[in-house]
Parts: sequence; C-alpha cells; structure tokens
Amino acid sequence: MGHLIGGSSVETGALFENRSPVNGESLGSVFSGMANHIDAAASAAADAFPDWVSASGKARRQLLHRVADLIVAREQEIAFVECMDTGQALRFMSKAALRGAENYRFFADLAPQANDGHSLPTQDHINYTTRKAIGPVGVITPWNTPFMLSTWKIAPALAAGCTVVHKPAEWSPLSARLLHEIMIEAGVPAGVVNLVNGFGETVGKALTEHPAIKAVAFVGESSTGSAIMQQGAETLKRVHFELGGKNPVVVFDDADIERAVDAAVFMIYSLNGERCTSSSRLLVQSTIYDEFTQKVAARVKNLKVGHPLDPSTEVGPLIHPRHVQKVMSYMDIAEHDGATISVGGTRTADEGWYVNPTLFTNANNSMRIAQEEIFGPVLTAIPFSDEAEAIQIANDTQYGLAGYLWTTNTGRAHRVANQMDVGMVWVNSENNRHLPSPFGGTKASGIGRDGGDYSFDFYMETKNICVAFDTHKVPGLGK
Ligand code: NAD
Repeated sequence: MGHLIGGSSVETGALFENRSPVNGESLGSVFSGMANHIDAAASAAADAFPDWVSASGKARRQLLHRVADLIVAREQEIAFVECMDTGQALRFMSKAALRGAENYRFFADLAPQANDGHSLPTQDHINYTTRKAIGPVGVITPWNTPFMLSTWKIAPALAAGCTVVHKPAEWSPLSARLLHEIMIEAGVPAGVVNLVNGFGETVGKALTEHPAIKAVAFVGESSTGSAIMQQGAETLKRVHFELGGKNPVVVFDDADIERAVDAAVFMIYSLNGERCTSSSRLLVQSTIYDEFTQKVAARVKNLKVGHPLDPSTEVGPLIHPRHVQKVMSYMDIAEHDGATISVGGTRTADEGWYVNPTLFTNANNSMRIAQEEIFGPVLTAIPFSDEAEAIQIANDTQYGLAGYLWTTNTGRAHRVANQMDVGMVWVNSENNRHLPSPFGGTKASGIGRDGGDYSFDFYMETKNICVAFDTHKVPGLGK
C-alpha cells in the first residue's frame, strides 16, 4: 500500500508488514515514508491551499457532505477493515463509519460560517474580527480507533479551509487509506488531502518539523506530544494535543448502583480498554466498595472475549504483541505492589493477541496500576471514604482528560464536577458524544479542545480590524 500525495499513489521506499491482531497474519505490506515523501506532500498541500481556502463555504459544505455519503456507502467495508486491522470488536466498529460520516456532515454544515467573526464597537471605533484558515496542517493519528479519529481531525480542518498532510499510525494504517480514497473519489481537489504512511520517529518527525506545515493536530501518547512540541519548536508550530488519560469513575453510595455498574464496565472494557476516555480507575465509596466491586467482578468474568468479527464478541485482541507485553507487565506490577488480581490477569489460549479482562482490587492510588495508563481491558478499583477524599484521589494523577461521577445528590454532582481537574465530566452517564461540545484534556492529557467552533479556533487565524469613525483625537506630534 502506497502513499496518496497530490491525488496520486506513490509507491517508493522500504516496505513494512502490517499484521492483524487476530492471528498475527500479514494484511499486506505498506510503504514506509521518509522525509522526501513529507516534502512532496507538504508542497502539494501548500500548492492546493490558495484555491481551497478561497472556495466558498457552500462549496466546501457540498463536497464534505459528498464525502459523508461515500463513507456511508462503504460502511461495512470500513467496519470489517477496522476490526481486522485494530482488533476492535464489530459490535463497536459497526458504527465507526457512520460516526465518521457524522463528523463530516457536522463540520460541513459549519463551513459557510467558519470565517465569521465578531463586531465589537466602541464610541470612536468599530473593531471587527474575521477568521481565515491557517494553511497546510499535519494530522497525526493513533492506532486504537483510527477511522473515527482521522475524520474527527480532518473534517474540521477541511471545513475551515486548511489543506492536510495525514500520517496514520503504523500499527493500523488501513482505514486511513479508505478514507483518503473516499475523499479523492468525492472530488476533494488534488493536494488538499495527502496521506503518508510510516513510522513516527521518521516520517512523523519530518511532518512536525516541516516549514510549510503551519500546525499539527496530534492524538496519541503524552510522551509523543512532548516530543512533537520540541520537534515543532524551531518552526513555531501551533499544536493541538489529545493525549493519554487515567480517568476516574467516582461512585458515591447514593448512586443508582445498577446503572453505575453498567457504565463503569462499559467505559473500561469496550474498545478493548484501548480508549483515551476509558474509566480506568474505579473509585468507590467504602460503604459500598465490596458490594460494588463484586458486581463488577461478576460482569468482568462474563465478558465475551473473541474474534472481532463475531457479533457477540465484547473484547477482541490487543493491537500488537508489544502492547500485549506492556499490558501483561502490569499483572506482576499489581501483585508486587500489593493489589489483588480479582479477575483475569492472564492471556487466553487463542493464537491472536488476546488478554483476559482484568480487575484489580485492594489497590490504592499511589500504586503504578493507579497512576500509569495501561490502555488495555484492565480496571483498578480503589475505595474512598468521603467527598473530599474522592476529589483528592480523582485529581491525584498527572492526567486530566475525563471524569465520571455517579450520585443522586444534585448539589454534590455539581460540587464534585467543579473540583475535578479534567477537561470533561460525565455525571450519571458513560461517555456520550455531542459534536458542538468541547472535547479535550488538562495537565498531561492535552492542549486545546475539539468540537464545534473550538475546532475552527485551532485551524484558523483570527484577525482584528479596527476602523475609526473619524471622531476621536489623533495625537499630533511635531506640530
Ligand atoms: P503514539 O503516541 O505512540 O502514536 C501516535 C501517532 O504518533 C502515531 O501515528 C505515531 O507513528 C506517531 N508518532 C510517534 N512518535 C512520533 C514523533 N516523534 N513525531 C511525530 N509523530 C510520532 O500513540 P498510540 O500508542 O498510537 O496511541 C495510544 C495513545 O493515544 C494513548 O496514550 C491514548 O490515550 C491516546 N489517545 C488519546 C485520545 C484523546 O482524544 N485524548 C484519543 C485516542 C488515543
């Protein structure tokens, strides 16, 4: 599989094998880009920018809706490819294409007003603002849910009037190729979107250092975000980071227990736990800790681990043997630190890269299983005594992406939500997406917000224009 640069397939350079998590078999070889491919893609994006940015918002809206239509038409193919390439279960991926299409439709409809600004009159002047796309941008995506995340980044960039060079993750590059083929088929002009495959340390780095690329939208690990910030420093890149998390789900003893169990189990074991917003720390009030963790344990034992294309599968194989090794290392770490492996802790006997869903109990928040992002089907349960301790534990982490909160006490819901140091709080709910609302994290979980106009703020420059009414006194020097 080659790159797509300036609307054409480019097949040069070394190849790497892309293997399926299901059985380790090759899904095909992929050309691994180098700095020269980024040069070509960035030039194509720069050449395409003037026409794309000056196209009307209406024209962009129409084209992006066409992309959405073609995504929907290839819905099943996208779902199957995503399952086999990432190991994510079909029950979740069957909607991946539709959600991706929704991203295009949502930002398509905002395109005609993307340039709109504010009117800020004073007595002697009127200030007004306009917005214009920043230029060619780099989009770097991770391996966990690549199709959805690529659309979430690329759709607003295009709607704003930016051109794009996209580098998908080397462990699951296939659905990005489908997306770019679809965009080209829909009529997105040559060079407006470009796809370069390959490894982060080479081609990803070259993209973040390229002078023609004005901003980098990145989704991935916090340490990679930090590297990208350094790599982009010389060319003063604007960056937007959606990074890791160690998100708490806080359950008070007045919560609706059955709904809270459903949500806690869903938010860590869906998507194989390979999810930035997973509720990987379960904080339960001590008065209900045993009852609650027993209910969770019963559900975890019952989860159906299996082939991602089996519609009954709830947990599929993890992305890569290296990731399995990382996740499994936490089983020893948990025992060494004094936690109990209440469920799981082992791999399955299957040939793929499967890990049994795992629950750690008897844990405290200073343990590594409570502080480090494991990014697998692994949950750490920690008791707390009262509201103050719940907030203290919830915030005692380097991360600040999401928090989940279960209580029937309205005042407490607002108090605790306000004191959680995170970018997003869900009260009595699992993660529910709302495209106009801001999405992003604090601390090591990210910089910036996506969603609605927040996305445009990143992909666009705001200009202020100040016009006098010819009524104020202009200072006269040297008269
Ligand atoms: P990663 O940081 O290893 O890789 C992400 C992308 O960055 C890949 O395309 C990779 O090739 C590239 N990359 C690696 N080194 C680079 C470099 N030096 N310069 C430029 N690009 C480079 O992340 P991952 O393992 O693919 O994904 C898992 C991580 O993503 C988790 O930490 C997860 O929490 C995070 N994530 C966050 C969100 C969010 O919205 N906050 C969403 C999904 C995933």
